[in-house]
Amino acid sequence: MPELPDVETFKRYLDATALHQPIGKVRVGAPRLLHGITPQGLGRRLHGRALESTRRHGKYLFARVDEAGWLVLHFGMSGRLQYATASGQLPQDAELLLWFENKAGLAYIAPRKLGRIDWSGEPDDYIASRGLGPDALALDYARFRDLARGRRGGVKSWLMDQGSLAGIGNLYADEILFQAGIHPGQAVAELDDNTLQALHKALRRVLRQAIEARAEPDAMPRSFLLPHRHAGARCPRCGERVAAIKLAGRTACFCPRCQPG
Ligand SMILES: [Zn+2]
Repeated sequence: MPELPDVETFKRYLDATALHQPIGKVRVGAPRLLHGITPQGLGRRLHGRALESTRRHGKYLFARVDEAGWLVLHFGMSGRLQYATASGQLPQDAELLLWFENKAGLAYIAPRKLGRIDWSGEPDDYIASRGLGPDALALDYARFRDLARGRRGGVKSWLMDQGSLAGIGNLYADEILFQAGIHPGQAVAELDDNTLQALHKALRRVLRQAIEARAEPDAMPRSFLLPHRHAGARCPRCGERVAAIKLAGRTACFCPRCQPG
């Protein structure tokens, strides 16, 4: 599932390819991904205008169209963006296709149809209406600690709770806890100040390094657990076998030696 580093990578990709080009044609391949706007309405909003700038919050990408609003994209389970110049090819069955007047195009592809396409007048209002917490990468330690205080339940569930902090999903929650040496099932309330500080540090480092690697597992640091999420894999730090358990319906991968319970 695309998490903060993946969506930041999509943002940079869009910034580098598709900004400032007048939109000629809009095709919505999956109308049920639209919320609060019809395919025709979206077409009218976009036609003749350009994507002028972008902003990311958690797993959401906002593209500013004009004073009246922003196109909002959420990538669901396996969504992505693909740009093609006039001579290139784009999947015609993409969930959303924007054709620019220069014949280039941008496809939003959400293969399992679990994405979300919205229109918003103001990202901050949208973020509030979706009940999202602050962006995980924008949090300083004082705010992070305040969010942790009074939380019940396990630390991994907390990291993944978009209403508390936005952007972290299953893979990066596991990576952050591995880097901080914390068992995924440990209660948030049991984390002392030093441990919480180490967790915050690991969170920032993991997300930044993953963005540098353009969210590609093969390009991540050797010390990362992420490329070792398969049966029989060894911990990159100590060589112990990586364990997988079910926690709140998701698979948690961790090293039993580096992250004792
Ligand atoms: Zn280990």
